[in-house]
Amino acid sequence: MCVFCEIIAGNIPSRKVYEDEHVLAIMDINPLSAGHTLVMPKKHTEDFITADTETVHQVIDVTHTLAERIVKALGAQGVNIVTNVGEAAGQSVSHLHFHIIPRYGNDAALSFHEAETPVDLDDVFAKITA
Ligand code: AMP
Ligand code: ZN
Repeated sequence: MCVFCEIIAGNIPSRKVYEDEHVLAIMDINPLSAGHTLVMPKKHTEDFITADTETVHQVIDVTHTLAERIVKALGAQGVNIVTNVGEAAGQSVSHLHFHIIPRYGNDAALSFHEAETPVDLDDVFAKITA
């Protein structure tokens, strides 16, 4: 069983933020910010791309609700909602999860504006719209 399935089964302790029939949300054990929460389906599903549509909808619905609740509860100025797919993207647990990462305006973690990878926009555009 993967680590999140172990948590869902109750074999590994966690701080449960939300739970329903299909979805569990827990505090991240190694948070990037105060309030960093993980939202996952109870059914083992490897990642966002291979997940079925119903599972994606269930997890996104809860992510939407919790993001607002967490931001308000903690007085955050913003929030990053992220799901990593594959090792190359930094996925370390192969069980679909959305990160809710509240932001307070005083941290540099998770900047999307630092890397400058040269990209041929016309070539990439042609490929993804083919
Ligand atoms: P990712 O790297 O996108 O797969 O995210 C996995 C996340 O799971 C990381 O942020 C870890 O800190 C978190 N994590 C790993 N094990 C646990 C655990 N037992 N309880 C809570 N969070 C965990
Ligand atoms: Zn799993």
